[in-house]
Amino acid sequence: MPSLTSYRFFKAASTMPIKSILARNIFDSRGNPTVEVDLVTDLGLFRAAVPSGASTGVHEALELRDGVKNEYHGKGVQKAIDNVNKIIAPELTKCNLEVTQQTEIDELMIKLDGTENKSKLGANAILGVSLAVCKAGAAKKGVPLYRHIADLAGNKNIVLPVPAFNVINGGSHAGNKLAMQEFMILPTGAANFTEAMRMGSETYHHLKKVIKDKFGLDATAVGDEGGFAPNIQDNKEGLELIKVAIEKAGYTGKIEIGMDVAASEFHKDGLYDLDFKNPNSDKSKWITPDQLLAIYQEFIKGYPIVSIEDPFDQDHFEAWTKITAATSIQIVGDDLTVTNPKRIQMAVDQKACNCLLLKVNQIGSVTESIRAHLLAKASGWGTMVSHRSGETEDTFIADLVVGLSTGQIKTGAPCRSERLAKYNQILRIEEELGSEAKYAGKSFRNPV
Ligand SMILES: [Mg+2]
Repeated sequence: MPSLTSYRFFKAASTMPIKSILARNIFDSRGNPTVEVDLVTDLGLFRAAVPSGASTGVHEALELRDGVKNEYHGKGVQKAIDNVNKIIAPELTKCNLEVTQQTEIDELMIKLDGTENKSKLGANAILGVSLAVCKAGAAKKGVPLYRHIADLAGNKNIVLPVPAFNVINGGSHAGNKLAMQEFMILPTGAANFTEAMRMGSETYHHLKKVIKDKFGLDATAVGDEGGFAPNIQDNKEGLELIKVAIEKAGYTGKIEIGMDVAASEFHKDGLYDLDFKNPNSDKSKWITPDQLLAIYQEFIKGYPIVSIEDPFDQDHFEAWTKITAATSIQIVGDDLTVTNPKRIQMAVDQKACNCLLLKVNQIGSVTESIRAHLLAKASGWGTMVSHRSGETEDTFIADLVVGLSTGQIKTGAPCRSERLAKYNQILRIEEELGSEAKYAGKSFRNPV
């Protein structure tokens, strides 16, 4: 592999569309190693970084970690880096494919890997290259990245998404007693994306004050995704805090609420333990799926909830089908569907939900991410594009959500730069679109 210093000589000698590919180790927002890829064409250097989730399901593409205990607690990614530099790079630099040929390049890497879940080369190796190829492809065509993605997906109607800001954190990712993982605010009543950001930011700061007044300043520390994690146990209290903050900000009726329950985390023996972080939780208080459904229905009645993600365990299909039939709000599959076409089809067949959570690293390439969205769309579902809890400064998913025009994105609170990096990129896109810019607003579930 040419290093960056030897690259000049390599460039002079090469007429290949992809001149070089170099992967390296960088660090994500939690301080864990992750893969970054530099891809060089005659137009310059295109860089992409791979996000990482805290919990990965059995149906997800495999994130290759070294597993060497005394190095980065087993989380090193040297094997994935070597797979890019020693296996993928030589193939792609000699194959003569243009960087605009996203599908052909992704399929070549999938074939090189040869496994169902990308376990040979690692989804983190393949995705890093796939994202960098996409950025280079946009430059080759001389269009913004979101336009290139729109072309790849056959989308002619550009719409900006409603941001779903995760402002209160619970579940496995927070040290508090709260069972449900994310409480989000969606400024569906904003006139445009810029106004949605203003509403999100103002409400977030009102929420900080509400929490400080009630629980003290040390309750306003933020979690991995920038949300607050006050020490409350009652999930309804999370909703109440948000309702008060929305009122104080003056946006009642204009901001609606979304939740990611991540119920697989507290599913035990067919029941649900809302006190699962207590090692001595009282078994007699674990609830049935029907009791949990009743809690959701009470929430929906009392609060402006428009979206619930993972309301039940990932294999509890019956309960999923029941809630999707029982309510008109959006029911989102994340742990249920893991951006996997087979799991999506299974959920479609069983009418288990009506929205796909799209995470590029769950499936491991740009082409397959686009296909997953198109499958969801063809099935009458919505799609919410999502960050991971371990993020980088890479803003690819901002262009992805605009290019696919799915109408909704969750990428954390309006706090912490790896989260804001994505929202800020959408602000730039809105500015660039000028009078052509359309905001999904109330039609975020089905914007085009
Ligand atoms: Mg989730």
